[in-house]
Amino acid sequence: SVPLTFFTSIGQASRQGILIKGGNYLEALTHVDAIVFDKTGTLTEGSFVINEIHPINSTEDNLLKTAQIGEFYSTHPIGKAILKAKNEHIEEELLNGYKELSGYGVIAYYDSEEILVGNHKLMTKYNIEAQEIIYPGTVIYVAKNNEYLGYIAISDKIKDETPQTIKELSEKHISTYMLTGDNATIGNAVGEKVGIIKNNIFSGLLPQDKVEKMEEIKHKYKNNVVFVGDGVNDAPVLSLSDIGIAMGGTGSDVAVEAADVVIMKDRLTKILELLKIAKINRKVVI
Ligand code: ADP
Ligand code: MG
Repeated sequence: SVPLTFFTSIGQASRQGILIKGGNYLEALTHVDAIVFDKTGTLTEGSFVINEIHPINSTEDNLLKTAQIGEFYSTHPIGKAILKAKNEHIEEELLNGYKELSGYGVIAYYDSEEILVGNHKLMTKYNIEAQEIIYPGTVIYVAKNNEYLGYIAISDKIKDETPQTIKELSEKHISTYMLTGDNATIGNAVGEKVGIIKNNIFSGLLPQDKVEKMEEIKHKYKNNVVFVGDGVNDAPVLSLSDIGIAMGGTGSDVAVEAADVVIMKDRLTKILELLKIAKINRKVVI
């Protein structure tokens, strides 16, 4: 039978906005060797702002409109940022196809146009010649009917509490890692700012690469390895980890579904509270 204290601890956690989907996770959380974080929406706010709109074979308005058509059905933080920029007139009935390429971007069909919006890898994949831009943020490239139209530079903010949370985890001798689909320039820059060592940062990962990396990391440790993420593409890694934690506020339903623990207000410090509750729970049980 499940000790009564489990219910008390789960109740206490839920009052603090932490949903634990079973008492066994509380016990598991007392033996954690490493925590692996997704970047966007987990270590960072996940709400991008547009810094630059840079047309190449286009105008600023046309580039933005094309990007908005591409992202029309997107729920990704990048798509949302592009959509809220300015109201370009889009005739929804002309949209006759949409596909998300996880780790790359999106493809949409509008009237007779094929629109690509995503990272440089997406352009390469579709043989579109676009100069790769080095920028201290995320660069989103736009193409229409195989023609490169320009790029949009966006940036995200590191959550205020991230560096302190990483520091406190290190003090508890818990190793920290970052997995991101974003490129290495950004991955390393964010890692340095939040205090994750360079060897533990893995960038440019497609969803299946994230799964492989997670397997590798798990093999390095004897005790539990936790994953914290928020995106649709994080669901496989959330399932694979010993304990999967989803950011429930901005996170996708798929991530919340796949997780063992859900943090409702997306505050990273909740992870420290969760570890504390688990520890107290254990003392009471014994
Ligand atoms: P992360 O691992 O940082 O959460 P994702 O795997 O969701 O990132 O995305 C990886 C990269 O793929 C993004 O940095 C971006 O370059 C590109 N990408 C993903 N979704 C979109 C989208 N809707 N629009 C444009 N680019 C996208
Ligand atoms: Mg993400």
